[in-house]
Amino acid sequence: MSGPGETVSSGIPSALGEVRARISAKCKAVGRDPATVTLIAVSKTHGAESIEAALSTGQRHFGENRVQEAEAKWPELRAKTPGLCLHLIGPLQTNKVTEAVTLFDVIHTLDRPKLAEKLAEEMVKQARKIPCFIQVNTGREAQKAGVDPAEADAFIESCRTTWKLDIAGLMCIPPVADQPAPHFAFLREIAKRNGLTQLSMGMSDDFETALAFGATHVRVGSAIFGARA
Ligand SMILES: *Cc1c(COP(=O)(O)O)cnc(C)c1O
Repeated sequence: MSGPGETVSSGIPSALGEVRARISAKCKAVGRDPATVTLIAVSKTHGAESIEAALSTGQRHFGENRVQEAEAKWPELRAKTPGLCLHLIGPLQTNKVTEAVTLFDVIHTLDRPKLAEKLAEEMVKQARKIPCFIQVNTGREAQKAGVDPAEADAFIESCRTTWKLDIAGLMCIPPVADQPAPHFAFLREIAKRNGLTQLSMGMSDDFETALAFGATHVRVGSAIFGARA
């Protein structure tokens, strides 16, 4: 709760510290080096004041899910923040590819040939090679983005050979009603057989489980910034 003289952002540094401590503790418990994990602070819907509170703690990796929102919020903050790394974690429309390649440093939601083609074209045009994660729809949900698991191997191969994209790893968002662990295990298996080492998985409610299954990038929003409106 914010009292007199406090702001909505005053709890953010301690919340971030807590999340970092939980990542370290979980890594220790499962025999991993916490330095192999990137914490992406998901700042979607939150304003500059909250982001600055996170930046003040040294946090440099941030996630946004909408290109337009990120364009409005980030250019000014980026100009004064050396070492910033901005991750696109939401669906990307092909008509927003130019802006996305300009603004983001990593894309987590590559999931279809048309998008791969447009991204490859735009990266050449801007002479800016951005690592991409391929999103896999591990729960095969009709309304959810992501490549079908049965088509993942072929799509990964096409991204590498046809479009010559820098494929960093795989990303998933498990169905809300499911236990996340089997989805994380499944994503790890697909990554392994394709020689991919990075896994973008785990959010506020399940990042510790994701770490047990090898997550290298956890995307944490509400546990850091509070509930979204
Ligand atoms: C919003 C979002 C997150 C963060 O969710 P929290 O539950 O607030 O941690 C992570 N990944 C994606 C793709 C998101 O859209």
